Amino acid sequence: MRKKIIAGNWKMNKTPSEAKALVAEIKEKVAGATCDVVVCPTAICIPGVVEELKGSNVAVGAQNVHFKESGAYTGELAGNMLKEAGVTYVIIGHSERRQYFGETDETVNLRTKAALEAGLLPIVCVGESLTEREQGITDDTVRRQTKIAFLGISAEDAKKIVIAYEPVWAIGTGKTATAEQADEVCGIIRETIAGLYGKETAEAIRIQYGGSMNAKNAAELLAKPNIDGGLIGGASLKAEDFSVIVEAAK
Ligand code: PGA
Repeated sequence: MRKKIIAGNWKMNKTPSEAKALVAEIKEKVAGATCDVVVCPTAICIPGVVEELKGSNVAVGAQNVHFKESGAYTGELAGNMLKEAGVTYVIIGHSERRQYFGETDETVNLRTKAALEAGLLPIVCVGESLTEREQGITDDTVRRQTKIAFLGISAEDAKKIVIAYEPVWAIGTGKTATAEQADEVCGIIRETIAGLYGKETAEAIRIQYGGSMNAKNAAELLAKPNIDGGLIGGASLKAEDFSVIVEAAK
């Protein structure tokens, strides 16, 4: 049985004091969670959030990590910096980074390897655009993204990775994939992992759904056999909604 994992992707929201206040509320509400719970604030908010969450069951994730250990990369953050700051997970290859910041399948692979090297647990995002879905190449797209993201990664390390299936057309749009659509693509991703590493690894790896998941639709999505959790944007900024989603992840 895979343990479900609910992660909040706060994106570019909340100042350091607002982040601390939100997480203070969240930790109370999710104290009895039976799944893994993660919040991913902006980097500047990480120290305050880590401090606020000490002794709680909520882990902290970053929203990106650079692939080099150090050096002349103005504006970037290395894995060991995040690790020392108390970060456990890191989102890699979110579609917004692919769309606005030139992220490619290759840099996703480099960042994933760097994260593992630093002892962080990657949450690797894949997902098709609306055009790709309409043209019937959703399967090809997520297969390609998954295969390249895992290039050169051992089976042992692969099991530490969480994959987030996020159809781009469902992110922040209020349009959720139906539970059947989401489960089907999560199944294709699992099949791809099985092709790379074998069935045991494929059965062990956790695959989240993301894209307008909310307090109302979470239970139906999370009941599907191939959906092991959620990567939540908008609804993760409200403690009440986020805790309802955590509650649904049994
Ligand atoms: P959303 O974002 O829940 O606001 O659609 C999900 C995500 O981008 O991770």
